[in-house]
Amino acid sequence: MSAALAATADDRIVFDLTGIEERYESLLRELPGVAVRFAMKACPVDEVLARLAGAGAGVDAASVPEMEQALRAGVPIGRVHYGNTVKSDRNIADAHRLGIRDFATDSLEDVAAIAEHAPGARVFCRLSTDTRGALWELSGKYGCSTADAVTILETARKLGLVPSGLSVHVGSQQMTPEAWRDAFERLADVLAALDRRGIALDHINLGGGLPVPGYLDKHGRPLDPPIDKLFAVIREGMAHLRTIGGHHLGFVVEPGRYLVAGQGAIRAHVSRLSARQGPDGRRQYWLYLSCGKFNGLYEMDELQYPLVFPTHGGPGTRHVPAVVAGPTCDSDDAYSHEDGLVQVPEALASGDPVWVLSCGAYAISYTTQGFNGFGPLPYTCIDGGATGGSGKTGGG
Ligand SMILES: *Cc1c(COP(=O)(O)O)cnc(C)c1O
Repeated sequence: MSAALAATADDRIVFDLTGIEERYESLLRELPGVAVRFAMKACPVDEVLARLAGAGAGVDAASVPEMEQALRAGVPIGRVHYGNTVKSDRNIADAHRLGIRDFATDSLEDVAAIAEHAPGARVFCRLSTDTRGALWELSGKYGCSTADAVTILETARKLGLVPSGLSVHVGSQQMTPEAWRDAFERLADVLAALDRRGIALDHINLGGGLPVPGYLDKHGRPLDPPIDKLFAVIREGMAHLRTIGGHHLGFVVEPGRYLVAGQGAIRAHVSRLSARQGPDGRRQYWLYLSCGKFNGLYEMDELQYPLVFPTHGGPGTRHVPAVVAGPTCDSDDAYSHEDGLVQVPEALASGDPVWVLSCGAYAISYTTQGFNGFGPLPYTCIDGGATGGSGKTGGG
């Protein structure tokens, strides 16, 4: 990765396809037998989708354009599911026409629409769970209660759909085992209730949310998720669910961040290191970079991506504490102001290269068309050490 970053003279984002495939393989070692459906919103890059599909993964798609992109990239239709519970009649009909047969749902209204516009489809019902402990909780908007899930899947059966599964999503970058335990408890409750009603499911979708190391929190401390513990809880939970009733359960996971976050990095440059007087009258350093919240670092107000200054840092380098910010006129385009000071070389000059690490997830997809004229970064895909791929514009 550093060789590729060092080799580029212009700003761009670099994805390591070999690294992404290795993350996929290591996930299968941790959770043997699961089917992986990559949440493509985390990195909707054709080369990434093609590499994962080649290794055996499918995708979790949230819209018809995402499905079309996945199919173009070579993901087999049977490995594409419609994971978004929010969809119009037209979206459902279009997805059905494409050949999509697996639909997420969480309401009676949506299930009725699926029955009408995708007759005979397989549905999986999204349960709401306790998402505390995640950096992004995603709670409220999605999922239903355990009681509603039973009603929704019974209704699905009555309407001629196949009640096929249950899904959860514990929130993104979920750091606590309790969140998974809570999800497994709710899944177990619904499985038992469905069994009493003679409904047998064929899969459980455990969603995304698996956390990655490599980020710093808002205060600059390394985020160090207890990933081994989390996998142990998930394996235990899967084993328990398999003992309930007459279901014949396979398991699906939908990682986004876990597969790509550490496998993408940005080569950017220093716009300027300036010292200005803050509201409290004290001098405050600001390090403005050429990329920020709107072209690659969307999550910079919730976490810090590690920075490397390849042309500085020898012995005797003096550092100053600075707020790191992107180039636009938006005040959110910065690391957290209060506690988020980063030690940066005092001698940084305009134009110096900077590498932003651990930004492979949610970089391309959250990039704007060019807020304030700061357009999407081009990207390059590398294969291990070697550079390959075309350097297309991100998102295009
Ligand atoms: C966003 C999303 C994911 C991926 O979440 P990560 O935290 O990136 O793993 C998985 N499933 C669904 C339904 C999502 O909305």
